[in-house]
Amino acid sequence: MDSQAILNQAVTSLNGIGRQAVGRLEKLDIRQLRDLIFHLPLRYEDRTRVQTINELIPGNIALICARVVSTSILNRGRRTLICQISDETGYLSLRFFHFSATQHNSLSSGTLISCFGEIKEGYSGYEMIHPEYKVIQQINDCITSDALTAIYPLTEGLRQTSIRKAVQQALALYNNNPDSLPDLLPAAVLTKFQYPSLNTALNTLHTPAPGISVYALQNSPNPALKRLAFEEFIAHQLSQLQSKLFDKHWQAPVLKCSQKQTQQFLINLSFSLTRAQQRVIKEIAADCANNSPMLRLIQGDVGSGKTVVSAYAALLALSSQYQVAIMAPTELLAEQHLRNFNLWFKEFDTKIIFLTGQLKGKKRQQALAAIADGNAGIIIGTHALFQDAVTFARLGLVIIDEQHRFGVNQRMALRDKGQHKNTKPHQLIMTATPIPRTLAMLNYADLDISIIDELPPGRIPVVTRAISSERRAEVVAKISNWVQQGKQVYWVCTLIEESEVLQCEAAEKTASMLAEILPDVRIGLVHGRLKSADKDLVMQAFKQHQLDLLVATTVIEVGVDVPNAGLMIIENPERLGLSQLHQLRGRVGRGSDNSFCLLMYQSPLSRTAGQRLNILRETSDGFIIAEKDLELRGPGEMMGTRQTGQMQFKIANLERDTELLDQVSEAVHIIQQDYPENIPLLIERWLGTTTKYAEV
Ligand code: ADP
Ligand code: MG
Repeated sequence: MDSQAILNQAVTSLNGIGRQAVGRLEKLDIRQLRDLIFHLPLRYEDRTRVQTINELIPGNIALICARVVSTSILNRGRRTLICQISDETGYLSLRFFHFSATQHNSLSSGTLISCFGEIKEGYSGYEMIHPEYKVIQQINDCITSDALTAIYPLTEGLRQTSIRKAVQQALALYNNNPDSLPDLLPAAVLTKFQYPSLNTALNTLHTPAPGISVYALQNSPNPALKRLAFEEFIAHQLSQLQSKLFDKHWQAPVLKCSQKQTQQFLINLSFSLTRAQQRVIKEIAADCANNSPMLRLIQGDVGSGKTVVSAYAALLALSSQYQVAIMAPTELLAEQHLRNFNLWFKEFDTKIIFLTGQLKGKKRQQALAAIADGNAGIIIGTHALFQDAVTFARLGLVIIDEQHRFGVNQRMALRDKGQHKNTKPHQLIMTATPIPRTLAMLNYADLDISIIDELPPGRIPVVTRAISSERRAEVVAKISNWVQQGKQVYWVCTLIEESEVLQCEAAEKTASMLAEILPDVRIGLVHGRLKSADKDLVMQAFKQHQLDLLVATTVIEVGVDVPNAGLMIIENPERLGLSQLHQLRGRVGRGSDNSFCLLMYQSPLSRTAGQRLNILRETSDGFIIAEKDLELRGPGEMMGTRQTGQMQFKIANLERDTELLDQVSEAVHIIQQDYPENIPLLIERWLGTTTKYAEV
């Protein structure tokens, strides 16, 4: 057998792995010997040292060696075997709820035993419940191991000793045939970042050398663990970069427009573009003029003017006789795009179609027909755009707004609709949730990124204050005063649960409470459970200043643009992420007057919550806010489950290993330059062969 094949053998090749065990291992995704080797211990137990009873600490796991003082069966309540032991420094009780007569007899007074288990605080001193124990002859027999014992993740029916034996057998085969698992990180990379070899790392983790402490092994400073996480990150990034390369095999339509058309488009706008907008437009134009598909992400703060940039991309498609699809996560937002595009493309001879789930019957049929026969140039809508019934005549560009609201697969589904033979449409993705650089690298290595880092002129930063909900009366007075000046207000109700129902109820209650104290103020209410048409009516009324105060749930997060609304109250801001709060706050500060955001928290505010709200007060830069959010909450929460769901790591842990990300790019670069032959092997090892390419 060649050495590579050794670890590809099925687990059945090992001693002691029967049919049942195979099924159980399979539940842990373990099929081949190599899978066993990458099945790392969950934690370690320290059986290297005997502790005395007087040094025990509740909650810790300890090995002790003591003599039985007395053993009795307690018949009150649950039948229990209680065994008192002592090592001359103190007493400890062992409790057994399941026990046999033999067990009872073997624990006779004076017997020397060693026992291992968790220390608990019982009614009468410390105790161990169902410890592992052994009757021994002399104290020296007590030491069961000279190194830490690895404890592996299990599945039902699988015993710790069986899996440990299996891993040890696989590991022995590997150690005898080191080539069976080649080290895919080149020596240059290992030396540079001071990581151990793959073999050392795996052996350290499965069979810790005597003297290594539990702490050192279970925490990230452990170079063995770090090295594996590092390799896994590298593999993920390489895989994304590969799919980007793979993309180059596809053709895309060349999209461009004449100077004259550009002029006409710009003249139609009621403003001139910021320098940042112009720069991003150039980047997009360069991509689209190319016959390979663009995959570009525009990151820009709320209000930075991403929409008009995407409209320019649409112009490129239209001028080249291609269709463009614009997908937004909510109807509200899709409608806003519709209004803007109607305005901006007024002078252009183009049919704009609006397609959402609400569109039914004949109107829907007509819309679908116009999309299919190519009559419609611009198609704006929600998720409805990638339904099966929708076919495009000549889709050349896909624009996706607020991409974090969509999964990768939804994004790809829309793009696939434009696929013809070897051609795919260009894709432009927009987000107002800036992603810290390190995470972007891991998540979006396959995208090109453009950043709009400048707000349109004349925007005055929103004055942000944190205020306790006990001062609600003052807030209400402020609203009254504000409305008397002819200005408008948002009141945002939040709840931590995803439950839309509860959130809507809270908003309804708040609206009626406010209506009672502010009888002269015209109050509207929007929440996610309103019908889209009703929601739109309320929003329109607010926009046209037929309402003074809009009570809303977080549905307005990605919402409308009402420059006259310069005051926002956010209830329970401590429940939201910083980036989300920042997005909400972006709804105000769109006019030329001073605007305010009051963060009305429930006191007492925890220290971290206070710190977080402070960040919002201090800066209005979405990128800084995102970095801080990452620092304070960690990447898992920050990215939201939907996003981290794309990345399933075997060993790496984003929270624990964040700081490794900085080194990943550098290592990836070295591997791409000098060891390209390792790339497919790394991807295969960590992601399997089938992933990613399917998505492109
Ligand atoms: P976002 O980046 O949050 O999607 P929008 O595209 O909705 O921002 O733009 C916010 C507002 O700013 C809109 O009313 C838009 O018309 C306006 N706007 C965009 N670019 C400029 C500009 N260069 N100068 C002035 N106003 C602009
Ligand atoms: Mg937007």
